[in-house]
Amino acid sequence: MRRIDATHDPSLRSWVNSANEPGTDFPIQNLPFGVFRRAGTQESFRGGVAIGSVVLDLVAVTRMAILPPEAATALAAAAQPSLNVFMSMGPSAAGALRSALSNALRAGSPLESRLQAALIPQSQAQFALPATIGDYTDFYASIHHATTVGRLFRPDNPLLPNYKWVPIGYHGRSSSIAVSGQGFHRPAGQTLPAGARIPSFGPSRRLDYELEMGAFVGRGNSLGEPIPLDEAESHLFGVCLLNDWSARDLQSWEYQPLGPFLAKNFATTISPWIVTLEALAPFRAPWKRPADDPQPLAYLDSREVRAAGAVDVELEAYLETQRVREQHLEPHQLSQSNLRDLYWSLSQLVTHHSVNGCNLQPGDLVGTGTLSGPAPQQAGSLLELSQNGKSELHLSSGETRTFLEDADRVIFRAGCTRAGYARIGFGEVSGTVLPARTPAPTH
Ligand code: CA
Repeated sequence: MRRIDATHDPSLRSWVNSANEPGTDFPIQNLPFGVFRRAGTQESFRGGVAIGSVVLDLVAVTRMAILPPEAATALAAAAQPSLNVFMSMGPSAAGALRSALSNALRAGSPLESRLQAALIPQSQAQFALPATIGDYTDFYASIHHATTVGRLFRPDNPLLPNYKWVPIGYHGRSSSIAVSGQGFHRPAGQTLPAGARIPSFGPSRRLDYELEMGAFVGRGNSLGEPIPLDEAESHLFGVCLLNDWSARDLQSWEYQPLGPFLAKNFATTISPWIVTLEALAPFRAPWKRPADDPQPLAYLDSREVRAAGAVDVELEAYLETQRVREQHLEPHQLSQSNLRDLYWSLSQLVTHHSVNGCNLQPGDLVGTGTLSGPAPQQAGSLLELSQNGKSELHLSSGETRTFLEDADRVIFRAGCTRAGYARIGFGEVSGTVLPARTPAPTH
């Protein structure tokens, strides 16, 4: 587990003034990594670090040759057009680079005048996926989500018997994962209308979002070598926001017996910045299992996980409709929840994923599953908030929704606050629903 060190000192200030403004997601205590280039150019994408309202261009910093040796090696990897190699170097490299960048960016650093030339406003940056994502796995680790969804379909038996024993997940698809700003066409597919015996084909009419976080794998494990629980976090690099767009009508017709398929793989959107586990060190919380629930099997249980396996991240989901944009209104807040409420810790997800010998690789993405809190208004999807379309949501714009309509934009934000530490944020992830493509002529 990463330790709290001098980089977390709440009294640290940066010579980048916007990093010291109250409410910034990116104070000097955060230093998340992403991949970017200047918008409107054909420049190569390259690694960057968010500080205040700007990006520190890591290629430019590499050329200056100003960091100590271990940090310089990590910097060269973090400057690449994808962060996989940097991720594979593990926590000591990430920690060394974080420490060196913290020194370089703090107020009074002798490097200020040189590094000024390596700053680009985030508003002028175009982001790419931060890593080449070889494999994407999505879990189902919020018991509140699993119970609410289960109750909609099986009122007498909402949680299946395996839920409290085994972290439930499925292998998703990485090719349709894109960075924030993704627009995607409403998917078409097979659905079985209520009361019908024969399915129809057409655009999904029950399009939904899922409020999730994604954890990027850092160091991999060899095929056949499980990752023990207390080593699991050393195989994780950092965390981002993730929207697992879902077509509920496609899903309910196709999901048995093998789980989600076309209902989920048409689009998944992640935030451009990965907040490292180093940055999250002050925001850890005990991982708890209610005393009358089954306790985890031995391979999923440890003193360390119980002491600090959870992460306290406050999440918010917003909906911005066409009318909200046209009338310059504030996006409607759909819900708030917290990563801390997960039934399984990130480390338990990693250990379970590899317990059969499955190899995880640098840049693999592990989704948490929809992050719903214990209260109904903390639900992380419209499926839950509208009770499967039975109850309309009344938006602050005067509109109503059960599921998403064309031109709707869904936005997630997140941040960590704790007394005695600087608040850090995740930026945001947004994506927009475009109209269904006009169907091709059929014969
Ligand atoms: Ca999901």
